[in-house]
Amino acid sequence: MSVIDEVKQKLDIVEVVSQYVPLTKAGRNFKARCPFHEERTPSFFVFPERQSWHCFGACGTGGDVFSFVMKQQGMEFSEALRLLAQQAGVTVPTRIERDTRKDERERLYQVNEAAARFFQDQLLHSTAAAKARDYLSGRDFTTDTLTAFQLGYSPDSYEALKSHLQERGFSEKELVDAGLLVETDDGRTRDRFRNRLMFPIRDARGRTTGFGARVLDDSLPKYTNSPQTLVFDKSGTLYAIDLAAPAIRKRDQVIIVEGYMDTITAHQNDFNNVVASMGTAITERQVTTLKRLSKNIILALDADAAGEEAMLRCVDYENILDAEIRVIVLPEGKDPDDVIREDPQKWQELVEDAVPVVDFTFSTKTTRLDMTTARNQSRAVHELGAIIARMKDAVRRDHYIRRLEILTKTRYNIIEGVVKEYMAPSKQSKPKREPATQATQLLLSNPLEEYCLRLLLHHPELTNMSEGLLPEYFQDSQNREIFVTLQQTKDTSSLKDNLDPALWEQVESLVALDVIDNKIDKKLDTVILRLREQYLRDQNEERAAAFATTTEEEGSGADLTRLKEEGIEANIQLQEVFEQKGRSDRSGKGWT
Ligand SMILES: [Zn+2]
Repeated sequence: MSVIDEVKQKLDIVEVVSQYVPLTKAGRNFKARCPFHEERTPSFFVFPERQSWHCFGACGTGGDVFSFVMKQQGMEFSEALRLLAQQAGVTVPTRIERDTRKDERERLYQVNEAAARFFQDQLLHSTAAAKARDYLSGRDFTTDTLTAFQLGYSPDSYEALKSHLQERGFSEKELVDAGLLVETDDGRTRDRFRNRLMFPIRDARGRTTGFGARVLDDSLPKYTNSPQTLVFDKSGTLYAIDLAAPAIRKRDQVIIVEGYMDTITAHQNDFNNVVASMGTAITERQVTTLKRLSKNIILALDADAAGEEAMLRCVDYENILDAEIRVIVLPEGKDPDDVIREDPQKWQELVEDAVPVVDFTFSTKTTRLDMTTARNQSRAVHELGAIIARMKDAVRRDHYIRRLEILTKTRYNIIEGVVKEYMAPSKQSKPKREPATQATQLLLSNPLEEYCLRLLLHHPELTNMSEGLLPEYFQDSQNREIFVTLQQTKDTSSLKDNLDPALWEQVESLVALDVIDNKIDKKLDTVILRLREQYLRDQNEERAAAFATTTEEEGSGADLTRLKEEGIEANIQLQEVFEQKGRSDRSGKGWT
């Protein structure tokens, strides 16, 4: 049980509310003049059985004990939780741990920033950096470019950076944590990057998170990066995203290249919507970051090196983006850096001629194999069929099956059968998951709310489609808080940062449960409809209870009329829900 549930269980809403508002008994419930708006006759009710409250007057709102204290005291959820936990004698995990991590991160940005300035200064002024300067002038990089990308040079020394930064008040530990120093076997530390051309890596907000480094001779490896740190994670990083974001948004298109040099050359030639992946394959986190700027992703990566697994993932990304990913077909043996430097116009043409990544895979695969042999036909149908199986859109699947029919000279129904085989695994694994799901659901306080959150947590892209979903539909304050925060962040990776640690347990338990990945849009529509229904029904019950107690006493005529009118309005809305539900029940299965 989460601390929040524990607090709810130990406190009685009637006692909590009466600390602030004098309640009078009204049947099984309690009423008062609403503390949130001016009124002469009471329309504020507390329902002990449901442990809820509702104002049927001007506020027209309600909730549980947490939302009452939040509204009454003008508090954030976290503050209300702490206040109530204290009353209930429940210990809440402190924020301190999280805050120190925040300070720690802030410190690492500062260390990296100071290191980037040091490296830049070395490149511009030190005699030892002559070779690095020669290399860059061979690339025709302008001073503006060097400044924009803050390129630098790390001296050929074990402690140049270390002593420079220690003099500026950074501790040895901070330097190690930032990945700038390495620890040696004898327990000492030395500079990680020596005699290298340095590329500071920044996040979307322009904070320096880590470094890429290139050797200046023929030694290998040519490039190294900062290790994973509290602020640097290669898999979520896009080089030059801070510089490229405005152009990506403006052109509604992003081009992903592989290298630092490709990116810098592109930007110097006014192709500013270019970023670099930090490896040959792009990751889901990178796609999610870019999606906020543009859905039109074009890859200028070495498609061969990316491999089959990467291709399969691309189709998954297309499902997330709800758009095709395209690929630039580079001339044999050339990278974007070469092409742009030789002829910027040619690059522009290649971008315009970019082909859908699936089409590209289909043609490379089938032209490489001799399609007259049964063995190769079978191989192509299986390999490409697996890709088709990943597509969520049936029309698209049909399009590519027909394509494969022509390319492999295999009959449509045969290919369709193979595709179905690859689609099957998710169905087969379903029964395996179910016992766990059911067992866990018994412990859940509100299965419908939690199911909705699970959908959104597993598919953050759906938050854009959840317009009809109102915070009020979540009766449980912890679910409501998670929903509201998710709506603001639109991204699960930063959700926890913005959420009280007391809610992490709930988020983790929601994320731990899978959702079956088909027809998720429809599942979301259905669950929103059901939540709305639940919300309206609860309101009706509360209203009926309030109505009953008001008629028992003399009550003011105006209040009764208003309650009646609201009741009618709610019933009309409920009727709408039933009509919509009727439509969706006929067109498919439910939300489970
Ligand atoms: Zn009110």
